[in-house]
Amino acid sequence: MSSELVKRHGHTHYANIPYGYYVLIVSFFYLVFLGVLRIILKPRAAGFNSSKRSRLAQKLYLVNPVVHLPILLVAVLLPFYRHYSISEHATVYIKRLGRLSYALLPLNLLLNLRPNWLLRNNYTYTDLIPLHKWLSRCIIIIAVVHGILFLINWALGESGTLAKKIANPYNLAGVLLFAPLISMIFFSIGPMRRFSYNAFYVIHNLTGISFIFVVAFHARPSVTIPYLLINIAILLWQGFAKFYYAKRTDILSKNTDYQNTNLVNVQLPRMALPDQFEPACHIRISPYSRLHPLYWLYPSHPFTVASLPSDTVVDLIISESHHPKSFKLELGAPYSVINNFDPAVPRSCLEQAKRVAIVCGGSGISFGLPLYRYFKEIHPVEYIQFIWLVKDAYQLKILDKLDTIGLLDGSNDCHAFITRSVDDPNSNQETAPDLEFELESMTQDVVDENGAFVSERDGSPTSKFKFASINLGRRIDWATDLSQFVEPALVDNTWLLTCGPSDLIESGRQYAADNSINFASEIYAL
Ligand SMILES: Cc1cc2nc3c(=O)[nH]c(=O)nc-3n(C[C@H](O)[C@H](O)[C@H](O)COP(=O)(O)OP(=O)(O)OC[C@H]3O[C@@H](n4cnc5c(N)ncnc54)[C@H](O)[C@@H]3O)c2cc1C
Repeated sequence: MSSELVKRHGHTHYANIPYGYYVLIVSFFYLVFLGVLRIILKPRAAGFNSSKRSRLAQKLYLVNPVVHLPILLVAVLLPFYRHYSISEHATVYIKRLGRLSYALLPLNLLLNLRPNWLLRNNYTYTDLIPLHKWLSRCIIIIAVVHGILFLINWALGESGTLAKKIANPYNLAGVLLFAPLISMIFFSIGPMRRFSYNAFYVIHNLTGISFIFVVAFHARPSVTIPYLLINIAILLWQGFAKFYYAKRTDILSKNTDYQNTNLVNVQLPRMALPDQFEPACHIRISPYSRLHPLYWLYPSHPFTVASLPSDTVVDLIISESHHPKSFKLELGAPYSVINNFDPAVPRSCLEQAKRVAIVCGGSGISFGLPLYRYFKEIHPVEYIQFIWLVKDAYQLKILDKLDTIGLLDGSNDCHAFITRSVDDPNSNQETAPDLEFELESMTQDVVDENGAFVSERDGSPTSKFKFASINLGRRIDWATDLSQFVEPALVDNTWLLTCGPSDLIESGRQYAADNSINFASEIYAL
């Protein structure tokens, strides 16, 4: 009997291993690049009239995927086609696509760390979510193209090849992965995400986990070392952080005025947060305990802390949706509070700002108020203006519910803009998704002799808080309403901070760009 040694793999079997390491090295340097960007670039806004260079610098600073994704993809694709001829070794390149998608996973998981410990000094995790979204889509598309090309390749081969190849359990695992990957693409598009954020999130998590483990089984040569091990380490860290930094807590009180406004105030015990936290940081809240599977599968809900560390309770200001399925905090039910995530306000602003204007709309008050108090009480600045735009007068009343508002005097620097009359019969109607502020012609003066807002209906004060001015029926006119704000000699320490609907943020950005001042903003959507 003669025995013959048969080669298990062709000579190209290991051809893609160095390429995978290359992608990992690019990922490492890309993270370093992100860190360096925030050191060398200033948080200056760029607008329509700004130079191309300033607009590019802003996109780089803001980790805009339009600029960052091409940088990353060009870097990883540069040596993609090398050495092997595509006509003779097409499968080398098809396999390379698969390896590329898996080798990009560690970077993608790192971009989604909450909080992001790696880039903690320069970024908050919300800065990196848009890039994480687009990189995820790229990874999925590359993986799907890899699968489709293999199926085509087998279908074009000798008869029976396709069935034989799919029957191989390693290949079958890859084919089965199509289902979660394609549903992930479908559920991640904007309208589907808005239709059911929970469904999107569950599919996002399940697809992520199955991709990590199924591909580790499917890929040949193995991707266990180092990719799978790195991915498991990141997942374990994410799981640990979500477990360790969560506290179970009851709600102390919930102040509502549903007849007139959907803006509510929820108070949590002070112990829900650590002794120190940054102004305008946010917490994430889940209705499930850490031992409940849905704590891990469903999204937690981010809410900005409207209090400062010195306060005796933790105030939240929430714009509740009327949708029956939307998340609402209710008295009597315990919640898990995952704390606490830094705001999208750079440290340089909190430490060095000298002139600050804060402009917020609707529930964006939860971002603006703690910053306003911080720049009055903790890090006093030479100029502060606080502008709050609300849809109707009843929303101002939310301030009265806050624990420490009695001690705060806004009669010099707090301005309210009310865009709808108190007597408007539609004043309690659901706002458009983006909080479109409506304008009506109203000029009536509604501030009493103490500076408190007076209801047009019965003459009683609607809000006890003292504003410097109440402006009815008009939007903010940036140049006029902030005419004293910008001092040319101090632009480096001048900050405009905004939070609210995207059109408010964009007009703030334009104003900041026109005046060459620093700009930071937070938007309440991911
Ligand atoms: C950093 C940050 C701070 C926030 N602070 C406040 C605040 O102080 N006050 C306030 O009223 N709102 C705040 N929000 C918004 C608030 O978290 C969402 O409106 C809320 O989670 C929506 O819940 P829902 O069940 O009504 O959503 P759904 O009706 O299911 O979805 C509506 C939309 O809300 C967004 N969304 C839903 N769930 C989440 C989630 N878990 N994470 C992120 N986005 C989600 C999605 O874009 C979705 O399309 C904040 C959001 C962020 C990102």
